[in-house]
Amino acid sequence: SLSLAAVLAESALRRPDHPALVTAATTLTYRELWAGARHHAAVLRRHGIGPGDRVALLLPNSPCFPKAYFGALALGATVVPMPTTLRAGEITYILKDSAAAALICTAELRDADGGTAAASTGTPVLTVTGELAAEAEPIDDLVPRSPTDIALILYTSGTTGRPKGAMLTHLNVFLNVELGMESPFAMDGDDVLLGCLPLFHTFGQICGMNTTFRAGATMVLMERFEAARAVELMARHGCTVLMGVPTMYLALLAATEHDAPRQRLDRAYSGGAALPVAVLESFEERFGCPIYEGYGLTETSPVVAYNQKAWPRRPGTVGRPIWGVEVAIARADLDDRVELLPAGEVGEIVIRGHNVMAGYLNRPEATDEAIVDGWLRSADLGVQDEDGYLRIVDRKKDMVIRGGYNVYPRELEETLARHPAVAQVAVIGVPHDTLGEEVCAVIVPRPGTEQDETLPDAIRAWCRERMAGYKYPRLVVLTDAMPLGPSGKVLKRELTARFAVPVD
Ligand code: ATP
Repeated sequence: SLSLAAVLAESALRRPDHPALVTAATTLTYRELWAGARHHAAVLRRHGIGPGDRVALLLPNSPCFPKAYFGALALGATVVPMPTTLRAGEITYILKDSAAAALICTAELRDADGGTAAASTGTPVLTVTGELAAEAEPIDDLVPRSPTDIALILYTSGTTGRPKGAMLTHLNVFLNVELGMESPFAMDGDDVLLGCLPLFHTFGQICGMNTTFRAGATMVLMERFEAARAVELMARHGCTVLMGVPTMYLALLAATEHDAPRQRLDRAYSGGAALPVAVLESFEERFGCPIYEGYGLTETSPVVAYNQKAWPRRPGTVGRPIWGVEVAIARADLDDRVELLPAGEVGEIVIRGHNVMAGYLNRPEATDEAIVDGWLRSADLGVQDEDGYLRIVDRKKDMVIRGGYNVYPRELEETLARHPAVAQVAVIGVPHDTLGEEVCAVIVPRPGTEQDETLPDAIRAWCRERMAGYKYPRLVVLTDAMPLGPSGKVLKRELTARFAVPVD
């Protein structure tokens, strides 16, 4: 069967007694996890859920997530996972937009904001310890799906305007998991993944959870990422694979500054945001394990390119596109058509292939803007070399235009990450009277370094020696911590709001 539910169902057949999921409270074998999913499916069916219905999930990283996810998929339903950080208004919006037939949540999340939202849309609520825990004979069929049926609707957090639901087909997701098997996340049954990414987000869900279950491997699930605990869990459970966003690698480095327990870690994958090469190098030295950086988007199921094991790794790039996916660089200034640029030129990254979403739910215009001439426009700037390796230059909207010159924050961040007093850095543009924008480096200082009022000046001078005059950051500000989004990425829009006091 093509159903994405096969990811779990087949491993339950192949290796029923192997641990699928380890949490602080429990260990579930494949047989147990799949039985839990089939039980949930039976209850959902009793509540009238069937093929094509949308089932919204508001669930934390715990066994209830995969049980509900694969239970709904087994019925042929479409799963709509939501960030657990959403507030009532945002949940309401998604329930309405997706016309969800049911909301599955924990009692805590129902009492927080889920219940209010569901009441306002009239969506039936099934809590995992309440309605969903009812006696039921697990289903033993798996409703087959066609390749183009929608398996998941993943909402982008909508930095501009309302969130948009990216519709991913069973084939979209299955191929991404399957090609991941070939090598990006190359897992086999003996691997143990530290599941520290949120399951509602595409990276943790498709690359993390689905790849692990497809391989019949084990996922050690953290309810939320916490660096010291992650280090301890990896050592205790002999984790071999780690997947994280760059802020997690930074936190792991900080947590092991003085004491790094021996790890079995064999490979690590970074994605979701740019990983400074300096961080990659420090991590590899500390943990004795390579980081393979990849690039993906919710809209591309998600992997587009990665540093594949079979190819020479090139730190600072996101490797080459996965099989069956084309990446090209297009003129970034055209909205209505795609005009490709030759290798070596910077432009907008466009993507074509089996990983591109079916479209945004209920948003034909947004879909037409995003998918032009069969190419998905990423809104990221990049450059591809003759060998197909892709380097992410920056997000289009993060580019700073200072006095008419384009400044790419990511390039400055790469350099600043090498300053000995810098633990973390984000470069943003702030409004300026005559230049339009001025370049501002927001820095979290490394603990233990001298942090007097001369540090910003010292960093500015250090930059001036290493960067061209038009782009070195004239403004350097210190902060205790970066604002992070639900998937652990730095929220530049919040930094901009915080530090964008007009300067002259
Ligand atoms: P939103 O939901 O608000 O749109 P988002 O843009 O972060 O948030 P995601 O689909 O989670 O949504 O992330 C995709 C984006 O993440 C890409 O468009 C790109 O900007 C960024 N990204 C992913 N991997 C990398 C990488 N290796 N280097 C740089 N940027 C990356």
